[in-house]
Amino acid sequence: MTKEKIEEIRQDFPILEEKIYNKPLIYFDNGATTQKPRCVVEKIEFSYYHQNSNIHRGVHYLSQKATEAHEAARSKVARFLGASKREEIIFTRGTTEAINLVAFSFGEAFCKAGDEVIISVMEHHSNIVPWQMLCERKGMTLRVIPMNEKGELKLDVLQTLMNERTKIISVTHVSNVLGTINPVKEIIRMAHEKNIPVLIDGAQAVPHIHVDVQDLDADFYVFSGHKIYAPTGIGVLYGKEKWLNAIPPYQGGGEMIQTVTFEKTTYNELPFKFEAGTPDYIGSAALAQALEYVEGIGIQNIAEYEHELTKYAELRLKEIEGMRFFGTSNEKSAVVSFLVGNIHPYDIGMLLDKLGIAVRTGHHCAQPLSDALGIPGTVRASFAFYNTKEEIDLFIEALKRVVMMLN
Ligand code: PMP
Repeated sequence: MTKEKIEEIRQDFPILEEKIYNKPLIYFDNGATTQKPRCVVEKIEFSYYHQNSNIHRGVHYLSQKATEAHEAARSKVARFLGASKREEIIFTRGTTEAINLVAFSFGEAFCKAGDEVIISVMEHHSNIVPWQMLCERKGMTLRVIPMNEKGELKLDVLQTLMNERTKIISVTHVSNVLGTINPVKEIIRMAHEKNIPVLIDGAQAVPHIHVDVQDLDADFYVFSGHKIYAPTGIGVLYGKEKWLNAIPPYQGGGEMIQTVTFEKTTYNELPFKFEAGTPDYIGSAALAQALEYVEGIGIQNIAEYEHELTKYAELRLKEIEGMRFFGTSNEKSAVVSFLVGNIHPYDIGMLLDKLGIAVRTGHHCAQPLSDALGIPGTVRASFAFYNTKEEIDLFIEALKRVVMMLN
């Protein structure tokens, strides 16, 4: 993408004009959440001002408009992920809720004492804890795929971990700490050879790379709206129809029922069976708008530009003495995690903040990964398509100053 194009894109994000301690904001914390383009915020405003009413049950105009928007958003997400049916898209609060849903409902239907779940060493807490809770509930065992020194999963070990007790595998598509793009298509192929279903945590993938759930043959695929330029509070669970039909509801309430008597309740069909209560229909409409915005730029253009930014950042970071990178796979997304000498990451983050630069420090909700690396955490810069090489230059100059002060 040209410089002019990036400048044009930046105009869509008013927050990028903010001053932090009187310095221009440099926002390199996109892995935690992305900033929102005007069209997404305007969509929220439009929805509340012009078509706000609770969905599905209404006979009146506004309710029908709101319902149409929510269901059109579902179709949009289905096309975006390459799902074969819109009914395979369940709206959730985010990645975390989507994983909890599967861990609970799949666990209820298919898991018993002695069974096993496989995750990987580089998972976010939200793809660890729900499985641990399932294991505790049912008396099951959690197995973990290790990684090599570049931050790549050891698939030969995965091969040995899978057995007849393995009920499900849940791995991240892209690591939020290392940036590694895992070979999830291969992992799914290996698992399916043994009839094991796979959940892919796509929180850090969908904003950066093209995803096609049918091409991957994923059984479940989840992501959060707020990491792809949509509001907080809306996310997605994609599940193959056969699985979603085979597992029980996660929560009970309105919307998810067909009939209710005090003796017995029958459940609604997909996707409503998994959307108890009033869904975030304003959020779903805004998510659809965000996906349209992303498609307008082009996910391939985004991937290439962010790759260029990441490579440039890595190159320039190498100028700093004592630089140690975490995550050096050839297949990497827009994340650079590092430490400098023995300086605590928190100190670097604090001082960069004073210079207007937002990076994230710590274990990034992947504490077992930090433990495996034997470090207290990292400094993480994570990029979006609205970032520039000029911002990276300013970041490097700032980091050099910070390192000098802390040394
Ligand atoms: N998985 C990964 C890989 C993530 O990066 C995150 C967010 N940092 C999550 C899951 C959790 O997402 P959320 O908090 O939006 O549910």
